[in-house]
Amino acid sequence: MSNPFIPYGRQDINKDDIKQVVKILKSDYITQGPIIEKFEKAISKIVKSRHSVACNSATSALHIACMALGLKEGERLWTTPITFVASANCGLYCGAVVDFVDIDPDTGLLCCKELEKKLKEAKSSGTLPRVLVPVHLAGTSCDMPKIYELSKQYGFSIIEDASHAIGGDCNNYPVGSCKYSDITVFSLHPVKIITSAEGGIATTNNFDIANKMKYLRSHGIVKDKNLFINKPEGSWSYEQQYLGYNYRMSEVHAALGLNQLKRLETFINKRNQIIKYYKDNISHLPLKFLCVPKNVRSSYHLAIIRLNNKDSDFHSYIFDNLRKENIGVQVHYTPVHLQPYYKNEGYSQGDFPKSEEYSRNAITLPIFPTISKESINRVISVLGNLLK
Ligand SMILES: *Cc1c(COP(=O)(O)O)cnc(C)c1O
Repeated sequence: MSNPFIPYGRQDINKDDIKQVVKILKSDYITQGPIIEKFEKAISKIVKSRHSVACNSATSALHIACMALGLKEGERLWTTPITFVASANCGLYCGAVVDFVDIDPDTGLLCCKELEKKLKEAKSSGTLPRVLVPVHLAGTSCDMPKIYELSKQYGFSIIEDASHAIGGDCNNYPVGSCKYSDITVFSLHPVKIITSAEGGIATTNNFDIANKMKYLRSHGIVKDKNLFINKPEGSWSYEQQYLGYNYRMSEVHAALGLNQLKRLETFINKRNQIIKYYKDNISHLPLKFLCVPKNVRSSYHLAIIRLNNKDSDFHSYIFDNLRKENIGVQVHYTPVHLQPYYKNEGYSQGDFPKSEEYSRNAITLPIFPTISKESINRVISVLGNLLK
């Protein structure tokens, strides 16, 4: 009999989560109701932001974050190639041109030196970005103070894609506090740190941005009669003033997210322990873990190792043999600019060499709060045999 499959990530749903969801299902309001606002307030309290806007995914939150910042057709959005496609696609949804900044190979994060260099060039060619989307890969915050400083110098807005990073911090400011950005977006997909099943949430300290996002997540409809453009026909009236979407979160999802939030600290501590255990037991092998800068507390969404090998056959060999042993490894990520859709936009192999090399060596090992010691030991032993 083969060993059971160990996924790279998995949600932790307890009895109380289920109870809270069932309570909503039995209540009068299962789509829009009081829990969403309660969830938004709870998120803001934890990450120390003034406002939160819950959406049905991080992807939709990223889209309306770009819109709320006024990203327009022909303008530029920059992000990193080492991310999920959604960090880049949000720019394309707005008709913007998407470009990339190569990574720092030690952290896997958008490299501030590359950013500065590219900004200088863009300034002289008149191609500066309107929006930058730094991505906190694996739960580790980018160098936000430096990025913020550059944003003041070159005049761009910042959306932190913190899909991996709720519960982390940078310079003792919680990720999501928007100390160094305009908007932060978290994903609540089941593999992420906490989940609402599908779901995402944006945080900001800017009232107008929060308000705009709230209209955009609900068709662009304004209900406050004081803000109407026309004279209201009656007390039933509402006005569509923008072209929005149905990106709303439901009460059912919010109830799950809200209850999960209680265990955020527990989840992060558990993830830190797992990483430490991996490091203690496999650091002697020919591989490296992603570096976490001293001023950052990572939420360790992913346990990424990199092989010390330039050979992509070796990468596949290790990957496939882990899979053969039912270990659900992944690669986070194939560089976005090498996806066929982005190649059609004009990108090609060699454009961002550090990201490409990173991707040829990266493997994500299983990490999630309920993973058993036995499973982790199995990962360690299989990897040890393959690399010895
Ligand atoms: C998961 C993820 C997203 C998208 O999140 P959804 O909630 O599934 O839309 C965006 N960016 C990154 C970096 C992600 O990992």
